[in-house]
Amino acid sequence: MRSTEVCVVGAGPAGSAAAIRLAQLGHRVLLVERGGPGRAPAAESLPPSALPGLEQLGVRAAVEAAGFLRPRGSLVEWDGAAREVDGGGAAGFQVERARLDELLREAAMAAGAGLRRPAAVRSIEHDAGAWRLRLADGETLEAQAVVDARGRRAGAALRPPTAALCAEWQGANACAGHGRVQALREAWVWAAPLPDGRCSVAVFADAARMAALGGPGRAAFYDEAVARAGLLDPVLRHARRGPLRVRDASARRHPTPADERGLLRVGEAACALDPLSSQGLACALRQGVQAAACLHTALVRPADAAWAWTFHRDQVLRASRRHEALAAGFYRAAAARFDEAFWVARAGPADDAAVPPPPPPRSWPALDARLCIAPLARWQLEPVLDGDWVRPSPALVHPGLDAPFAFWCGRPARDWLQPLDATPPLPALLERWRALCGEALAGSLWQHLWRQGLIVSAG
Ligand SMILES: Cc1cc2nc3c(=O)[nH]c(=O)nc-3n(C[C@H](O)[C@H](O)[C@H](O)COP(=O)(O)OP(=O)(O)OC[C@H]3O[C@@H](n4cnc5c(N)ncnc54)[C@H](O)[C@@H]3O)c2cc1C
Repeated sequence: MRSTEVCVVGAGPAGSAAAIRLAQLGHRVLLVERGGPGRAPAAESLPPSALPGLEQLGVRAAVEAAGFLRPRGSLVEWDGAAREVDGGGAAGFQVERARLDELLREAAMAAGAGLRRPAAVRSIEHDAGAWRLRLADGETLEAQAVVDARGRRAGAALRPPTAALCAEWQGANACAGHGRVQALREAWVWAAPLPDGRCSVAVFADAARMAALGGPGRAAFYDEAVARAGLLDPVLRHARRGPLRVRDASARRHPTPADERGLLRVGEAACALDPLSSQGLACALRQGVQAAACLHTALVRPADAAWAWTFHRDQVLRASRRHEALAAGFYRAAAARFDEAFWVARAGPADDAAVPPPPPPRSWPALDARLCIAPLARWQLEPVLDGDWVRPSPALVHPGLDAPFAFWCGRPARDWLQPLDATPPLPALLERWRALCGEALAGSLWQHLWRQGLIVSAG
């Protein structure tokens, strides 16, 4: 039986990111990937928000040199008018998924991780203090800890299930590489061109309805939706469609992202985001990196293991809820426009305990008003990521915040909030903060904490 310290199952973005970081942190890692046909869609949008994660993994330069299209934003037609939605100034990527996954796998091996590919894991069981993974070829692997990164797998759908009908088109016009998104009466369409004339086009529709239609009915539904999507016309006018594949595109959340015996679920195995957010890849990379820090902590500082498991659970839940809130806003906007079952059924809250609603606007306090921390806020120990370690740190929690306030600009929350014990007026508070982080950041911290209701007028 082959044995390793950490076995990472699944070499998609989440699994490879975890393997890279664990290997960089000095752990013995084996990445196991079943291989097989490339996943649909062939192209996906990687937003600029993923750049820091790529940098941290040491793959940014390789991804930038891979020749992916670098659009500055996407073309979106959601409320009746087409507009360009930019990525906040920075360019993202229109990645070819097979190539991105290959770059990440290569980086994992360069960092020192082993790779078994093709090798499908059939079962993962905990027995006599170790994890045993049975492979399809009959071999068994033993590991002290496991990262389960097998992709969209488990957990109930958070809204009525959605299916993505995906096809590649040949001979498409890359049109500056813009991804295109358009809401239709009973579906939405999304297109991502590649520089070689291929273009991935997916139609997102109700999964139960698509299952009932059967193959020919689905193909007719897909073709009609694409024909109705005016935004795709300049891209697909002379292109030819390839075969259709159906994928689950429902937002899901696994009930147990962390098993305290040493198994963490990451990426879509932990929470599958609604593709409307276009953040699945960035989130998978981020979770892989965070999970590596959690396992590193649990393996090297077992006294902090419980904090590490809690941190991972909290991060998965918060990411899932934030993206659900974002997706719900898009569904509501389309429901107001079309009033169709597809949109209306998805426009409600997806969660029993959703993200706190945005606070009502508050007028700014008078300049001489004395300020203090809101009476509902309280200090408690929360797990925080400090470099490569998870450790407990005092943080302020408040019903208006979806995450505890533990750090800002690399300094603990106490450094920022302690001055409020003296109930200073705003100019004095800002002066203290400016000395720590400069004018602009002090201003944005003030606006954030005041808007969320964490700071109030004293008395
Ligand atoms: C139609 C559609 C369009 C999308 N578009 C975008 C987009 O534009 N931008 C974006 O950011 N996100 C997009 N997403 C989401 C994105 O695809 C996912 O967020 C991302 O792939 C998650 O990465 P992952 O590593 O968690 O899972 P995956 O990428 O699914 O990787 C899982 C890996 O595990 C392997 N595996 C599975 N089972 C086993 C096993 N038993 N043994 C060994 N290996 C196994 C698989 O082969 C695979 O390599 C889209 C999703 C859909 C459905």
